[in-house]
Amino acid sequence: MVKILVKSGGLAAVPEWRAALSAIDPRFSAHWWQDESVRPEEVDYVVVWEPEPGWLATLPNLRVVFSSAAGVDHITRDPSWPRHLPLVRMGGDAVSQRMGEFISWSCLSLLRDARHYALSQAQRVWAPKEVPFTARERRVGIMGLGNLGSQAAKMLQGLGFQVQGWARSRKELPGVVSFAGAAELPAFLASTDILVCLLPSTPETNGLINAALLAQLPAGAALVNAGRGAHLVIPDLLAALDSGHLASAVLDVFPEEPLAAESPLWAHPKIIVTPHAASLPSRAERARYVAAAIADFEAGRPLPNLYDHARGY
Ligand code: NAP
Repeated sequence: MVKILVKSGGLAAVPEWRAALSAIDPRFSAHWWQDESVRPEEVDYVVVWEPEPGWLATLPNLRVVFSSAAGVDHITRDPSWPRHLPLVRMGGDAVSQRMGEFISWSCLSLLRDARHYALSQAQRVWAPKEVPFTARERRVGIMGLGNLGSQAAKMLQGLGFQVQGWARSRKELPGVVSFAGAAELPAFLASTDILVCLLPSTPETNGLINAALLAQLPAGAALVNAGRGAHLVIPDLLAALDSGHLASAVLDVFPEEPLAAESPLWAHPKIIVTPHAASLPSRAERARYVAAAIADFEAGRPLPNLYDHARGY
């Protein structure tokens, strides 16, 4: 048997993981990470979200670590995570499609001021609002043109938005203006009406969306953060919204999750809050992705979405 320990979705999710994985390959035997019937030396693979610091280092025959999400910062912040092992980020079509849907929904919500209508409806107020632009007159700038950003770019173009992107390296995506590196960030920001963050969390990107960056956006711009909470300096966002420089924002990720009940973000009239729900693939989709990656690994083929130590994501 191939033993896979799971720490994702809680104990109640284990039967679903077990059924999905064993349906793909009957050798796969999935267990909760604290299942005492599995000895540490028997464990071949783990699929994890926020593993307890120190735990992964106790599994001597572990072969690959799978992050149950696209980000891996929740694993690499453990000082003793097994750095010699391949670390695979969750990916695949389902993750990018779901994120593309969320970014499309966010940009349309900002364009049509969905927050205004949600507040009006709650008060039973009939308050139609003029819409000054169509998507064709709005430039969406995506920070991070990887698996998720490139799919979002494609879907936004389908809605009529003008799309540009910024990454470390230049990209060749049909119809997408590509900016690369720190030197081109100011030009990218100056020509962005809706800024979308789909960066990984690294020392270079954390805190990037601060007062200095927001000030470089045109007046009346909007923000969507679906990368990580660490990217955004919340007091700087609130100041930019309150001054009117920034029109509105959609926030899916936060420095502390769940977002505290007393946070001013919840009730802010210019902010739509979602609970880190932008792209949450089903367990069956994630099981298919993990099983395919294990098949690649065991056949000696390259692994998809491998964490790169030098890049830090
Ligand atoms: P990915 O394929 O690794 O793409 C990351 C992109 O960011 C790449 O284009 C990369 O540029 C760019 N980048 C990295 N560091 C940079 C820097 N210092 N300056 C400029 N660009 C930089 O990652 P992904 O699969 O698209 O996922 C992106 C992030 O989305 C994840 O790390 C996670 O934080 C977040 N996420 C959120 C949710 C949610 O539900 N909210 C769900 C899934 C993922 P190069 O291509 O040039 O290297």
